[in-house]
Amino acid sequence: EFGEDEGDESDLVVRPPVVTVMGHVDHGKTKLLDALRKANVVAKEAGGITQHIGAYQVQTEVDGEDRRITFIDTPGHEAFTAMRARGAQATDIAILVVAADDGVMPQTIEALNHAKAANVPIVVAVNKIDKPDADPTKVRGQLTEYGLIPEEYGGDAMFVDVSAKSELNLDKLLEAVVLTADASLDLRANPDQDAQGLVVEAHLDRGRGPVATVLVQRGTLHVGDSIVAGPAHGRVRAMLDEHGNELSVADPSRPAMVLGLSAVPGAGQNFIVVDDDRMARQIAEKREARERAAMQAKRRV
Ligand code: GDP
Repeated sequence: EFGEDEGDESDLVVRPPVVTVMGHVDHGKTKLLDALRKANVVAKEAGGITQHIGAYQVQTEVDGEDRRITFIDTPGHEAFTAMRARGAQATDIAILVVAADDGVMPQTIEALNHAKAANVPIVVAVNKIDKPDADPTKVRGQLTEYGLIPEEYGGDAMFVDVSAKSELNLDKLLEAVVLTADASLDLRANPDQDAQGLVVEAHLDRGRGPVATVLVQRGTLHVGDSIVAGPAHGRVRAMLDEHGNELSVADPSRPAMVLGLSAVPGAGQNFIVVDDDRMARQIAEKREARERAAMQAKRRV
């Protein structure tokens, strides 16, 4: 079941941090996610374009080492809170985007509070520094008042001045994410066990049927595995990465588009690998019955 023991300490290997981008509307979350996706592709792209599958991985070099970072490709804290409402925590680190011309705004503080409540370390991207009226020092002062103190002022939060538009300092931002993960988190998982994780996004594709982007949190997912994802079940018929390339396996922190499910699961629902199809169907049917009962109970109130 979900939350199964991960085995011995020696079975654990480092996994990439999973990052959510949050911040006030129009401060550049979408633009930043697009710029990072474009600038740091891990694999060669099948069709030359990166598809939106709800999450993607980038690669960056830190201290001469290749490091990977997974981004949840849905800006804003709605997705974050929707997942948390289901008891799921996908995010290891939050990037808080603050436009340097606008400064701290109500949703900046809201996002900050969500990250704090979830105990998720924050890296601040002070965005739009290409603008003539950008005032990144003001942003640092404002956030200091909310207890988010920049390293250069003696605090422990990394602030990076960026421009999503001019693609400025994106590498520095990625480096700050890796350094923050190394300094404050112990991100390891056992890749040698049945996979489990979360559904990030899912939809019904006319040609391919139900398609779900899952984030592997533990273990390794293989093509051919029998899985239960929310109320859906099935055998993994194929997996695709964000470039449309076929994957045969997906390791911890890897997002993958999964084909072969019986239905469309919800974002934030968990998935697990089980022994065989029969078991997958039984568990899925039980879950569906439980959800139906819960819905009916809600309606009666
Ligand atoms: P979101 O609502 O936080 O997702 O914001 P968007 O990514 O949609 O950006 C809002 C607006 O700001 C768009 O018109 C972007 O083109 C613009 N924008 C985003 N980043 C930058 C930047 O670094 N510099 C400048 N000048 N404009 C930016």
